[in-house]
Amino acid sequence: MMTELTHVDGNAAAGAFAEVLGFDVTTATLTCAGCGRFGPFAESHVYHRAPGIVVRCPGCDHVLARLVQTPTDVWLDLRGAQSWHIPFPSTRSPVGCAPQTSWTRWGDCTNIAVISSTW
Ligand SMILES: [Zn+2]
Repeated sequence: MMTELTHVDGNAAAGAFAEVLGFDVTTATLTCAGCGRFGPFAESHVYHRAPGIVVRCPGCDHVLARLVQTPTDVWLDLRGAQSWHIPFPSTRSPVGCAPQTSWTRWGDCTNIAVISSTW
């Protein structure tokens, strides 16, 4: 039998990333630092047979994220994604914001959290 690198979709890595980051990463949308593709984490290509987990862009194969677990630590490398857009649950208000039914002003109270390596 031939040995080949096969990938699965982002859902396969959801458990490991959720354990470290504390939220369901399949709801996040990532911007690839390689090609600028904006797409759901769930659509990314996951290689989990290497030591650790490698998440790659389905558009250009750029590494979006890496997660390696040792017996005592977790190493997380997110620099391959320019940004992560994470929808907050609608029932939860962002810290420091008064409860509202909709959030419209960017930079004030939004329903999107952005983690970016470029800001
Ligand atoms: Zn890409």
